[in-house]
Amino acid sequence: TGSAHKKKVILITGASSGIGAATARQLAQEGHTVVLGARRQERLDELVSEIESDGGTAAGVSLDVTARHSVQEAVTYAAETFGRLDVLINNAGIMPLSPLEQSHVDEWDSMIDVNIRGVLHGIAAAQPVMREQKSGHIVTLASTGAHEVLPTAAVYCATKYAAWAISEGLRIESEPWLRVTTITPGVTESELADSISDPEAREAMQEYRSNALPATEIARSISYAINAGGDVNEIIVRPTTQR
Ligand code: NDP
Repeated sequence: TGSAHKKKVILITGASSGIGAATARQLAQEGHTVVLGARRQERLDELVSEIESDGGTAAGVSLDVTARHSVQEAVTYAAETFGRLDVLINNAGIMPLSPLEQSHVDEWDSMIDVNIRGVLHGIAAAQPVMREQKSGHIVTLASTGAHEVLPTAAVYCATKYAAWAISEGLRIESEPWLRVTTITPGVTESELADSISDPEAREAMQEYRSNALPATEIARSISYAINAGGDVNEIIVRPTTQR
């Protein structure tokens, strides 16, 4: 059940930028095999080349977490290519913020599809492989927005409360061979805020996000949880300036 220092096969969703890409670099440097999933295939190809030229082992797989079959295919690809799947990192996420009164229903739906359904698709696809191995680890990215609600972020926070609850539920239900970790970052440098179409929310977030942690710090937390001997349940990391 996840002994320390073992080299693992790790599938990362949303590995084409931000926290996912930083985590891929970190884990590959430690000798783990990383399978990188996202929609932007060129980004993944570049990152795979970079990791390989640094002596690591990586592969890219086209992935849309909103489609159950796509997540299933990525898990099958990782397990068949490298013989097993030790860790799934449910990292893909989007954050198109806006005040509720604007009724950006399509963006609400997208956040629900990526941030909640995406996590559930990952769990559903990885569980049978891990059950067969009698070993596995499912890491899910929540957010400090899983513990508090901010203006313009009601739906985003709702999806992160949900991701937190799903990860915690998995932990309390699962058999001892499954390790379950929730990673809860505060404001972190990435492309996450680029998806904000609402001008008001965009402006408010530029101020709020001006003191951000580098994505490598969150990558280090994820690495800690993966390499630890015990079951690391939740890590909350935020800039000291974030209350
Ligand atoms: P980025 O926007 O930089 O990265 C998000 C990643 O998710 C991209 O690789 C993107 O790839 C991928 N993604 C988006 N939609 C899909 C989809 N449908 N299928 C597959 N992949 C998808 O943001 P972050 O690195 O910040 O975000 C990573 C996680 O961290 C998210 O869950 C986010 O909510 C969480 N988080 C981030 C914080 C921050 O301040 N940055 C704070 C707290 C939590 P592509 O577009 O190529 O598919």
